[in-house]
Amino acid sequence: MAGVPSPNRIKTHQIYTIWEAAEALGRHRQTVIRWIKDKGLIADQSRVPWLIRGADLKDFLGHRRAKVRTRLALHHLYCLGCKEPQEPDGKFAEYSQQTATTGMLKALCPACGCILNKVVKRADLEVIRAKIEVAVQQANPRLVSLLDPRSNDTSTPEASTHDKTQLG
Ligand SMILES: [Zn+2]
Repeated sequence: MAGVPSPNRIKTHQIYTIWEAAEALGRHRQTVIRWIKDKGLIADQSRVPWLIRGADLKDFLGHRRAKVRTRLALHHLYCLGCKEPQEPDGKFAEYSQQTATTGMLKALCPACGCILNKVVKRADLEVIRAKIEVAVQQANPRLVSLLDPRSNDTSTPEASTHDKTQLG
């Protein structure tokens, strides 16, 4: 099931049967039935065949696509407090390398102030940096101490080792 079909395939003022909706969207009719039974797609079930208003179907697909987009946004971090993805407060996050290919992105939730963490691929960092400011290791000291109380020890020379990450 790759992605959600485009709402543009549906005509707002047309009435669709399950078959017609499935046909128009290139999906199995069982999929459309599942949308109605489990996912909240509005349909007239008072008689057979069930009828779906084009406007309702468009709405439904639009919301599902928006959801998928939110989940996939690389620069958003999921907030356990808000139970939804958030853009980092001040559009600022800190990245620390953890393995050769991945690192930890840390930021503050703009809504509730929670600390947000997310493992990201090193390769995705450039994409993330197009959206928000990302400090690699040597971050805003205030944010660093907020995010990780143990890192208060800034006297260690290792904190400023060779800056081989050419990101900024
Ligand atoms: Zn939050």
